[in-house]
Amino acid sequence: MPDEIAEAVDALAEAEQILVFTGAGLSTESGIPDFRGPDGLWTKVDPEDFTIDRYRHNRDLRVRGWRMHLDGELWGARSTVQPNLGHQAIVRLAEVGRLAGVVTQNVDGLHHQSGLDDDMVAELHGNVRGSHCLGCGERWSTETVLEWVEKGEEDPRCPECGGIVKTDTVMFGEMLPEEEVRKAGIFLAISDAVLVLGSTVAVWPASDVVIRAAHQSKPIVIINRGETEADDLAAVKIEAGIGEVLPSLVDRLLTRN
Ligand SMILES: [Zn+2]
Repeated sequence: MPDEIAEAVDALAEAEQILVFTGAGLSTESGIPDFRGPDGLWTKVDPEDFTIDRYRHNRDLRVRGWRMHLDGELWGARSTVQPNLGHQAIVRLAEVGRLAGVVTQNVDGLHHQSGLDDDMVAELHGNVRGSHCLGCGERWSTETVLEWVEKGEEDPRCPECGGIVKTDTVMFGEMLPEEEVRKAGIFLAISDAVLVLGSTVAVWPASDVVIRAAHQSKPIVIINRGETEADDLAAVKIEAGIGEVLPSLVDRLLTRN
């Protein structure tokens, strides 16, 4: 195989600040199933059940959702998944000051768990760590809400206003969280290059960050198994597992400069 890692290092060598864009392919290496894969969640549940409208109006759906969180089936709040070699390699970029920030479509909180500060991660599709009231906006950790569920509240309600409680993950039909979009914009503005990891860059508007970087002539490096919507925009595309390639790529990048 040609030395694609060397080509990727070349493409990123001049970049003082690298924006890292991550998708489900990074988390699958921690054992989290990809929604869209052959064994993905979408093959087991109806995507329609993940609309905010249905969540508001269907008690059974909420009861089932909290039960799945409690059983650790919805990765994050009570699951035992751990950050992997890919997450750790990103942390090394942060440690040497070369990370503009991470823009992620993942809701599992593994970047946070790997040791990155929250202000270095824009979770465009929200996260499972936090929960809020759809009525008054009051906030709790999801762990707190799960304790209410364990005490017998199948469909926990806000103690302040009685409103419906929901995790901070973005459902179909919801806006992206404003603060996370703002952070992503800052990361893009200060970045000199973009490293895409485990995303097909197909889900808009999250994918917009990569498209805009390309329009600004910032070099794009992609590590992903399978085609992505941004392959034509990439300076280098590596078809491989992230854990197989990224640690060595970061090693070589950091020893070169
Ligand atoms: Zn409330």
